[in-house]
Amino acid sequence: MLQSSKIVSTTCPYCGVGCALQLHIDADDFIYKVTSPFEAVVNHGNLCVKGRYGYDFIYHNDRITTPMIRKVEQHPGARTQAFSTSTAAAWAAKAAAARATELINVLNFMGFSLSGF
Ligand code: SF4
Repeated sequence: MLQSSKIVSTTCPYCGVGCALQLHIDADDFIYKVTSPFEAVVNHGNLCVKGRYGYDFIYHNDRITTPMIRKVEQHPGARTQAFSTSTAAAWAAKAAAARATELINVLNFMGFSLSGF
């Protein structure tokens, strides 16, 4: 009989509903059952078929398990390159800071005109 070595609480990865999950994982790190707590605010213990059974992709050989960064503009066949998690996190932080600076520069040039009735 399967015995869970651990139960991991997480959120369903499939849609925006955000159902609460409990992944039952055996000693070989295999998810053999997915449940949901009845006290979960969003789904009250219920899961749709994807949320309950759709986890075969986790063990697929082609699954990407390292961060990938696209080095050229997005188009079919665009190449990505694998990076370490720390390098990817630093790259993402730098890109987010650059976008934030752009947004601040745009907001500095915006003006509002309000009037009462
Ligand atoms: S269990 Fe179904 S409804 Fe809930 S988040 Fe996952 S896909 Fe969406």
